[in-house]
Parts: sequence; C-alpha cells; structure tokens
Amino acid sequence: MRIDTKLIHGGVFGDEQTGAVNVPIYQVSTYKQDAVGQHRGYEYSRTGNPTREALEKLIAELELGTRGFAFSSGMAAISTIFSLFDQGDHLVVGDDIYGGTYRVMSGVFNRLGIRSSFVDTSRPEEVAAAIRPETKAVYMETPSNPLLKVTDIQKLANICRERNLLLIVDNTFLTPYWQNPLELGADIVVHSATKYLGGHSDVVAGLIAVKDAELGERLHFLQNSIGGVLPPHDSWLLIRGIKTLGLRMRQHEASTRKLVQWLQSRSDIENIFYPGLDQHPGHHIASRQARGYGGMFSFDVGSGERAERVLSRTRYFILAESLGAVESLISVPARMTHASIPPERRRELGITDGLIRISVGVEDVRDLQEDLEQALR
Ligand SMILES: *Cc1c(COP(=O)(O)O)cnc(C)c1O
Repeated sequence: MRIDTKLIHGGVFGDEQTGAVNVPIYQVSTYKQDAVGQHRGYEYSRTGNPTREALEKLIAELELGTRGFAFSSGMAAISTIFSLFDQGDHLVVGDDIYGGTYRVMSGVFNRLGIRSSFVDTSRPEEVAAAIRPETKAVYMETPSNPLLKVTDIQKLANICRERNLLLIVDNTFLTPYWQNPLELGADIVVHSATKYLGGHSDVVAGLIAVKDAELGERLHFLQNSIGGVLPPHDSWLLIRGIKTLGLRMRQHEASTRKLVQWLQSRSDIENIFYPGLDQHPGHHIASRQARGYGGMFSFDVGSGERAERVLSRTRYFILAESLGAVESLISVPARMTHASIPPERRRELGITDGLIRISVGVEDVRDLQEDLEQALR
C-alpha cells in the first residue's frame, strides 16, 4: 500500500459492527468483563482504548514499525521515552532540539540523575566523541528547529548500533509522509502530533512508533504506568487529521519553495535556512534520506527590532508558537519557542534575535507572498 492510500486505509478502517467508515469515538473509561479476569481485549482506557488503539496502529504502519503509542502531548511522549533510562545513564542529545525537550532533559530528568550532553548531531564525529561508557542513547531531530540543520540518520544509526545505543528520532518536522527514521536504522521515532499530523491547531498530542517488539513492550509498560495517554476524542481528531496529511504536506512544501525562492531574490534578508535549497549544508543528506524538505523555513531580517516589526504587520501569518497547521504561523524563536534556552547558548547556536521562523500553511501562496512583502516593507 502506498503512503497516500495508507493514510486513508491504514490502521483500523471504520467500524466492523455498523459499517461506519470512521472509527467511532469510544468515550469510555472501563469495560464490562465477562467473568473475573476475562475481558474482550480492553479493561481500562489508560491501558487500552479502541479509538486510541486505531491511532496507535495507524502511526505504527505509517512509520513502518510494529507498535505505536499515543500520548496527551509530544512532551508526554518524549518524557515517557526518557523514562526508559535509569539514574546514572547518559544521553547524547542534539543541541538545537525543541526547547521543551531541552527543558525536560536539563530541568527534570537531569535532577533524577539522567545526564545528557548537547552536541551538533549534524556532525556525526561530535556525536561519537560525546559517547561515554554510561551512554545509553542518542536523541536527535532532523531537520532541526529553528535552523533546519540536517542530521544523517543512517550515520548516527551506525554509530549507535556499534555501541549498542538506542537512536531516538523526533520526526515532527517531516512526518512519516516524507521521512521514515525506523527504515534508516532508528529504534524509536517520536512526534509532536500537535503539529503536522493533527494539522488543524485543534489538538495537542504525541505519538511514538517502534519496530522492536521488546522495546514496544517496555514503552507500553511506561505508557500505562505513567499514564499520559491521549483521550479518545483527541485520538479521533488525529486520525481525522492524518487522512489529509499527504495533501497538506505537498501543499506546504510547494508553497514553501515559492516563498523561499522569492525571499532569496531580496537584498534585505541575511540568511535563509531551508534544506530544499542547493546551498543548504544538509541538502544532499536531506535529499537522500527524505522524500521532501517540509514546510518550515527561517530567515534573518537583521535585528530583533525589525523581526518584531515584521511580526506585528502580517495579516495571514499568525503570530503564534507551534507549527504544521493549515494556517501559516510566524514566530521569533529567540523570544518565543526558544526563550527557555539561555541567551548566551542561543547565540552559540546561531539563533539570532532577528531570526524569523515560518510554518507555511495551505493558503494561496500569492496571498502569503503579498502579506510578507508588505510586512517586510
Ligand atoms: C512541539 C514540539 C514538541 C513538543 O510537543 P507538544 O505536543 O507541544 O508537547 C517536540 N518536538 C518538536 C520538534 C516540536 O515541534
């Protein structure tokens, strides 16, 4: 089954009982048992719920894994993954990962004795050099946020396999529509499904997919123990959103290409970060490991003041955190999504005050260009 068909027919299709073409919302917490200890596959909705399970099967199939898990947020999913580790364990983590991931690692799990080193994962030699005897995993995003740095998943998978480490990939930016980390050797793929998978700015959710059955069992144990599960109605909303993922991802990307090309022709823009550009340092790796370059890009307008002026003047680009929605979103990472990263660290990473990040929506790209043009002017 090809991906566009899988988006519609993958996972669980409809409802056997009634012929309904959509999976029903099983808004239920508990299930009648036929006798003590005899149930029909469901006992309690934290452990398993049919609507959530349909979504979990779908993400497992889309990511070419064997098992999927749905959580009440991307951070709940990521925190559940980090709960695989023990006091004394060490992780090598990408240095321009999502701000919330940095925060939970350095502010919560660090306190519990799970240490991490932050390195530029786009440089595999830096990853290898950061590995210690107590290292248990490498955690990465590609392309990264907000500088769209590309990391070679296969190269990191090789480093991890040789040393018996888990490779965890946050695939939020490209989604399984464009990139399948498990196929490239990753062990765990995680999503903030709040973004492209949901796609409509109406649900906060996280998803995990794995190939290995034993790892799947461990994650199910943690999901059920910690309990950050996705409710049935939100699971249904996500399944609904995922049906149009292909249509949306293709449009996001086509419009991004147009906007990036147009911005390149302007003299008042300092830097444009988009992996689809030939001159982007990660372009060749991106072309090899993914089927598309996505709908996110960032560019530098020179100063924090100008960035703020631009953001105060756009009409269709909505000033908001988040990304991956049908509506175009605009943000200044240094002041918003990455504000929890200390200023000196931000400067080291290249997240300048004038950096604007855009998540291109599915509006008519001519309106988007005109809007950005008047705001820049
Ligand atoms: C938003 C985001 C997260 C966190 O997900 P939530 O659903 O907001 O909890 C993690 N990783 C990336 C890349 C994100 O963009």
